[in-house]
Amino acid sequence: MSAVAYCGRFAPSPTGPLHAGSVVAALASWLDARAHQGRWLVRIEDVDTPRCPPGAGQIILQQLTALGLQPDAEPVWQSARGALYAHALEQLQARELAYPCACTRKELEQAWRAMGLQSNGLQERPYPGTCRHGLQGRPARSWRFALEKFIKNTDFSLTGQAPAAHFFVDSAGLVHWHDRRLGWQQQDPTQVAGDFVLRRADGLWAYQLAVVVDDAEQGITHIVRGEDLNDNTPRQLLLQSALDLPHPRYLHTPLVRQADGAKLSKQHGAAAVPTDDPVETLTQAACFLGLPAPQGESCLSDALNHWVNAWRATYNGPRP
Ligand code: GLU
Repeated sequence: MSAVAYCGRFAPSPTGPLHAGSVVAALASWLDARAHQGRWLVRIEDVDTPRCPPGAGQIILQQLTALGLQPDAEPVWQSARGALYAHALEQLQARELAYPCACTRKELEQAWRAMGLQSNGLQERPYPGTCRHGLQGRPARSWRFALEKFIKNTDFSLTGQAPAAHFFVDSAGLVHWHDRRLGWQQQDPTQVAGDFVLRRADGLWAYQLAVVVDDAEQGITHIVRGEDLNDNTPRQLLLQSALDLPHPRYLHTPLVRQADGAKLSKQHGAAAVPTDDPVETLTQAACFLGLPAPQGESCLSDALNHWVNAWRATYNGPRP
């Protein structure tokens, strides 16, 4: 297979050690990078510092090393990259695509209730737009991306990064994107998220901004991550357009679920993955990805051969 320009990454939030689900995402992104003869980077997404116990990032790096998943460069840590995110926010402000927001949690809940949008604890609710045209004397708390305005006012065929064949916005404002596993996807991001937060009221950078800035700064061309993030993709594609950044390709992997069907997550106490038997851990992750069980010590190279066969058709670009 000929090499394509490829840089992939694994970007765990160190809210705890790797569990069976995060190992699946790590292995899939590693396999896809190696199958493309590309680079593979690790980025520790510790931007939400209060949720990251001290030492958890280092434990994740040790777990990856024990599994033989070695990045091609020193891992980067989001907590040290605030200046990059601040610069991106300034660019959006200069383009009038970011605005301050004064809404408190309580005010948002009231607005959502008035709109008949009750929380089901799972689904996001779109920003009601309260501060879109000014703060009405209230103190600014957070910064938001002017997503509705951006969609309405942008001719996506003219943006700096011409719409890649795997992403476009139609005349009704629906975002369409191609996922290498899930196929064509579509979403109206004004219904899902609306004008989403870039910088939070507590001063921390929001995941959406940090991930877009970092993927571009690190030259990431291909994102392979868990399917729980698929819904976030349109927001990230739009932010990339607003900042004139390239659009990576996306592949969302199946989610490992608990017995009750909920996503396996650190918040729900998922067990740290054992690394004393790396072959067993990698074999389980490979089988979960639908690959034939790799054999013993040559586990990673076996899994790689299987991955190449499984994903060959999706390597070199979007389907028409
Ligand atoms: N840090 C995110 C997580 O651990 C992943 C971000 C991404 O891959 O875009 O869920």
